[in-house]
Amino acid sequence: MAKMNSNFLNLKENYLFKEISKQVNQYTAAHPGHKLIKMGIGDVTLPLAPAVVKAMEKASAEMGKKETFRGYEDSGQGYDFLREAVKGYYKKRNITISTEEIFISDGAKSDSGNINDIFDSSCTVLVTDPAYPVYVDSNTMGGKKIIYADSTPENGFAAMPPSCGADLIYLCSPNNPTGSAYTKEQLKEWVDYALKNKAVIIYDAAYEAFITDEKLPRSIFEIEGAKKCALEICSLSKTAGFTGTRCGYTVIPEELMFEDNDGSEYSVRKIWARRQGSKFNGVSYPVQRAAEAVFSDEGQRECREIVGYYLNNAKIMMKTFDKLGIEYTGGVNSPYIWFRCPCGMGSWEFFHKLLNEAEVVGTPGEGFGKNGEGWFRMTAFGSMEKTAEAMKRLEKMLG
Ligand SMILES: *Cc1c(COP(=O)(O)O)cnc(C)c1O
Repeated sequence: MAKMNSNFLNLKENYLFKEISKQVNQYTAAHPGHKLIKMGIGDVTLPLAPAVVKAMEKASAEMGKKETFRGYEDSGQGYDFLREAVKGYYKKRNITISTEEIFISDGAKSDSGNINDIFDSSCTVLVTDPAYPVYVDSNTMGGKKIIYADSTPENGFAAMPPSCGADLIYLCSPNNPTGSAYTKEQLKEWVDYALKNKAVIIYDAAYEAFITDEKLPRSIFEIEGAKKCALEICSLSKTAGFTGTRCGYTVIPEELMFEDNDGSEYSVRKIWARRQGSKFNGVSYPVQRAAEAVFSDEGQRECREIVGYYLNNAKIMMKTFDKLGIEYTGGVNSPYIWFRCPCGMGSWEFFHKLLNEAEVVGTPGEGFGKNGEGWFRMTAFGSMEKTAEAMKRLEKMLG
């Protein structure tokens, strides 16, 4: 008889988003015609930039002509034109990487989940709490031991290295859900910790384009020594509206090594290339052309405008939280505002109050980990009108 991978039995029920949609459906059924403002899901609302659409249309037309049709891609690592564009994007920030170090993917979720395939199940994995749920779920499926570094109000929800050792470390900056972003000094501490423990940092930079403060690092490779201990996972989902188009990229430096059980050294990049070669057949040609357009001058201008629109929503939200005297992180270099539930309310208690009294939907912080208890996440990914309206309702509810 086929036996299941029983690690799957250790997965926690995906309670958070199920419970939210259940509550929302119940409310809408009981209040027909009422329009809820949804600030819970991490999806974007603005469409693709014109330069991106133009490139995707042109590439789709090429696929329909014998002379320009493309089938399987040779490398499976992404077309040269896109990897050159990504390389150039890093170069603008004074980071030198080669095209061999760049892997084009169908998004950051797949890569951040799949990367644990190439690490031994005896590895201890460190995840910050609260965190994006993919890190915990994928490593649970892989049967790995997970330990946590606490993100708390005391450290501004930017967890720092613990005293114990870890082999694999997941960091996300700017952070989902807390909106906090590491400084260079803080990231240097993580790099030093990883080098000392011969650990590998998996750095999720899905929100790097939201960083406005020029002193903050947008890539872990801005930190000295990082190429020896880190790989970086990026996504066009939030930075260019690719949540439904699907494209991202992962950078694994040549210098990044790990050992087998006998202590022989191997290149992480080579083993990942081998894994991808067996299990992944690349991203569609029109989507890669669309992604290339994101990095063109025109695409960058348009995407910066989109990011600016969301950051302006975040500003509207911060103004309200400041006025109400509510403690929060994020909003400045992030599309997320992470705030303490007013009047000592629990996360779910506040969720219900907000839903019933203001008809606004957000995300209870405890869904992201135990340190999220009593905290709440709202996103700036809605329209400006709805964001402003939601803030008005919040003010009225708490006023
Ligand atoms: C949204 C998000 C991603 C992006 O995933 P895609 O698969 O590229 O859409 C990755 N990491 C975090 C932390 C996210 O919030």
